[in-house]
Amino acid sequence: MIPLLAFVLACGAGAARAAEDWDKLREQMVQRQLAARDITDAAVLRAMRTVPRHLFVPGAGSEAYGDFPLPIGHGQTISQPYIVAYMTQALRLKQGDKTLEVGTGSGYQAAVLAEVTRTNVYTIEIVEPLAVSAAKRLKQLGYDKVVVKVGDGYLGWPDQAPFDAIIVTAGAEHVPPPLVKQLKPGARMIIPVGGQWAVQYLTIIEKLADGTVRTMRDIPVRFVPLTGKQGK
Ligand code: SAM
Repeated sequence: MIPLLAFVLACGAGAARAAEDWDKLREQMVQRQLAARDITDAAVLRAMRTVPRHLFVPGAGSEAYGDFPLPIGHGQTISQPYIVAYMTQALRLKQGDKTLEVGTGSGYQAAVLAEVTRTNVYTIEIVEPLAVSAAKRLKQLGYDKVVVKVGDGYLGWPDQAPFDAIIVTAGAEHVPPPLVKQLKPGARMIIPVGGQWAVQYLTIIEKLADGTVRTMRDIPVRFVPLTGKQGK
C-alpha cells in the first residue's frame, strides 16, 4: 500500500525531477514545437531553451512543456510555448532593445524577452496578485532587469517610453493608441486583436522611420481579453 502510494506521488504532476530531466523536456519542446515549425531566430530558440518554464506554472510538472496553454490562476493563462516564441520572433529583437509587455501573467514571456534583449523589460499586469507573484518569481530566478508594475497596460508606460518593441499578451478589441504613440520610429508591436465574439488575429504594427504606421494582420489566435477601463 505504502510503496504504491509513494509511486503514485512520484509520478504525479508535481513530482520533483532532476535538473537534467527538465533540460531534456525543454530541449524536446524546442525541437518538436518550435524548430520543427517556423521558429528560426537563434536568440529566441536559445531563450526558450534557457527559461525554466516549469517554475512559472507551479504544479504543472512536465505539462509545463506541453504544446498548449495552461491556467495560472485568476482565470488567466500562460500561452502555448509556440505562441510565446512566435510573438517574440515577430518583434525582430536585438540585444539592447527596450521592450514593454502588457499582461505579465506568470512572468514567463518577460523572462524570454529579458533573455533575448539582455536589458530592461517593462511589464504591466492588471491583476495585482499575479503581478506580485510574477515579480517575486522573476527576482528569485535572477531576472533583475524585468520591472513589473500593477496597472492598466492599455495606457502603456509613458515614463519609460519610447520602446523598441511592445508585446500585448491579451486580446484587445482595437489597437490601443497610447501604445502606438510609445513606439520608437523603426519599432514593432505585436498584439492579438478581435471583437469580443470574433476571431482574434495577431496584428503587427510597425512605426516607420518617418513616424507613419503600418498594420499587418497575421495568424488567428485565442487569448484571454484585455480588461481594464481604458480598453472598453
Ligand atoms: N504573458 C503572460 C505569461 O507569460 O504568463 C501570459 C499573459 S495572459 C495570456 C494575459 C494577461 O494579461 C493576464 O494575466 C491578464 O490579467 C493580463 N491583462 C488583461 N488585461 C490587462 C490590462 N489592461 N493591463 C495589463 N494586464 C492585463
